[in-house]
Parts: sequence; structure tokens; C-alpha cells
Amino acid sequence: MRLRNVTGSREVIAESPFVVHEPALQKGKWHEIFGNERPIHIEIGMGKGRFLMDLAAANPDMNYIGIEKYSTVLLRAVQKMEEQALPNVRFIRMDAEEICEVFGREEVGRIYLNFSDPWPKDRHARRRLPSRQFLARYQEILARGGTIEFKTDNMDLFDFAVAEVEPAGWRIEAMTRDLHHDEKMMQGNIMTEYEEKFSSMGNPIYKYIICQAAKTGCCSDRAQGCTE
Ligand code: SAM
Repeated sequence: MRLRNVTGSREVIAESPFVVHEPALQKGKWHEIFGNERPIHIEIGMGKGRFLMDLAAANPDMNYIGIEKYSTVLLRAVQKMEEQALPNVRFIRMDAEEICEVFGREEVGRIYLNFSDPWPKDRHARRRLPSRQFLARYQEILARGGTIEFKTDNMDLFDFAVAEVEPAGWRIEAMTRDLHHDEKMMQGNIMTEYEEKFSSMGNPIYKYIICQAAKTGCCSDRAQGCTE
């Protein structure tokens, strides 16, 4: 998703109080930004922010950070926050490749990946957000008991993501190849912009929840203060 020619998006973002402008300075002390010790959950590749903001509105006792690479896209989320500010949400404009420079060891309670870019060429596999290269980064920042929740309508990307789980040292906690007809996994589901678009076209939505194989007590066991 890349919205072109949005005049002044960088300037609006540079002045926005909802965006953390030098995120590496917050490494290891993100709780100071929120003024509380509640768990921090992040969405990588947030797009226009609908999912993250609906999730944050439904869970005011949790903290949320949305990460988006492009200012033209992030601008939409900032504009939504200007209409309805949520105290438990912040945004970062960055490439997720730098995630370990921005979050400290085990600082994040959960990571959401929604409709990540598929990067269909084999030589670009390492750019896919559920790739083993990214899973190694997530391993550093994710707390004991933390999980990754990944949704997509792209079967090839999902098959790739599932195949990456075990070799990267993770294990599947839950999985479905038709989320919208899976009563259990659908409980509390919050739609993303892409999810609404593709499910309305009749595409099945794939989802997994994974946790680190070496660590016990995944979020689905309600460790980590998970209330969602
Ligand atoms: N998650 C939203 C949804 O489900 O509606 C948007 C999905 S869109 C296909 C993928 C988004 O991820 C785009 O906005 C893109 O800019 C962002 N993205 C892709 N790679 C990224 C990266 N390495 N770091 C941060 N954002 C990234």
C-alpha cells in the first residue's frame, strides 16, 4: 500500500504528537511514553491504522504502537488520531528491519502482522515480514510468553510463513485457513482494511498465532497480562 503525491505528509508527521520521532532513543523505556507499566503490543506494517486503533479502543488497559514504513500511508492514521485521539496509541515511521534498534530485549508483549507485503520473488524472501530473518529480530524484542499473530489472504505467503516457523525456533499455537468460518479463532477478531476488502471479495483469510518454542506460557495462556 503506497499512497502517492500526498503533499506535505512528511511535514504533518514531523509535527504530530502521535508519532515518536526518534524511536531509538526510547529503546528499553517505551513505558515512559505511555506513563504506565502495561504491556506494549505492536503492529508492523500498520497501513492506515484502522486495526490498531480499533484494537486500542477496545483495550484501553494495553499500550499499542503502530509501525509503518511510508509517511504517505502513516498520514492517514495520524489524521484518524487527530479526529479521535487514543491515549494508548503511538506511531513510528520506520522500516521494520531496524526493529531491534528501537525496542529493547523482551520489551514487546505481542506482535501483529496483518496482510504483509508478499514479495513474491524468491530472491526477496528475506524482506517478507514473517520470514525467518524477521522472526530472529522478533525473538529479541518479544517478552517471555509473547506471541505473533499473522493474518493474510495470500496462500503462497501463508504457506511460506508456516514453513518458516519451526526452522526459526518457533511453534504454532493456533492456525486456520478460513478465519471467518473458524468460530474459535474468530472470537474477538478485529478487521483490518485489507481484510475487509479481500474477505468481501470471497477470499479466505489465513491466520496463525506462534510463540517461541524455547519459551513457555504463550499469551494465549493469558500470561503477559493479555486481556484481549
Ligand atoms: N496492515 C494493513 C491492513 O491489513 O490493512 C496494511 C496492509 S498493506 C498490504 C502492508 C503495509 O505494510 C503497507 O502499508 C507497507 O507500507 C507496510 N510495510 C511493508 N513492509 C514494511 C516494513 N519493512 N516496515 C514497515 N512497514 C512495512
